[in-house]
Amino acid sequence: MAQTKLVVTCKVCGTEFELPEDVMDGEITSCPTCGARYIVKLAGGKAVLEEFKGDVEDYGE
Ligand SMILES: [Zn+2]
Repeated sequence: MAQTKLVVTCKVCGTEFELPEDVMDGEITSCPTCGARYIVKLAGGKAVLEEFKGDVEDYGE
């Protein structure tokens, strides 16, 4: 089965980075360069980034 690479572009710094192929719709990801957080939206075999507005990850500190 051919896997399409899920490459997305950070809206903040423009870095292109690849998502894991098992990434799930609604998963939180962050830019490896600037750390901006996004929600991954999967649609039609491709991934798009949606700005992360929540505060789910407060317990990381
Ligand atoms: Zn970035």
